Amino acid sequence: MDVRIGIGYDLHRLVEGRALILGGVMIPDGLGLLGHSDADVVLHALCDALLGAMGQPDIGELFPDRDPAWKDAESRVFVAEALARVRAAGYQVSNVDLVIHAERPRLGPHRDRIRGSVARLLGVAEGRVGVKAKTNEGVDAVGRGEAIACWAGVLLTQP
Ligand code: MG
Repeated sequence: MDVRIGIGYDLHRLVEGRALILGGVMIPDGLGLLGHSDADVVLHALCDALLGAMGQPDIGELFPDRDPAWKDAESRVFVAEALARVRAAGYQVSNVDLVIHAERPRLGPHRDRIRGSVARLLGVAEGRVGVKAKTNEGVDAVGRGEAIACWAGVLLTQP
């Protein structure tokens, strides 16, 4: 059986006047992530992991931030496209593991909602999605609360 592994990473700056959306979940915080789309750093990392597993162009190439079509776009659209490509290539998502780096807000209370949202977007059981929220121990931009970053790992298998 052919098995594919993929990793993805993304970071967006936290700014005033933007909604904070992580894994497709709106999180009330007062600050939000800056970006051309909704800047959902979790779904962006996830998309790159899915696309990378297949050796396909990354999210920046597929959905360039120069393209007005993606201005304020919901990142679930990007996930849907990446997932369609996974299926077209003859694979299914076996599991996903996500590590969100955020000094603020504390994500523990939101972790299960993020996990459920990602599972729904991928059409898999929640047991196939891992979500971990880590602070950066006060170090660097993430630690100073200036940005949120995310790592994603995926495993694709053939149905
Ligand atoms: Mg991004």
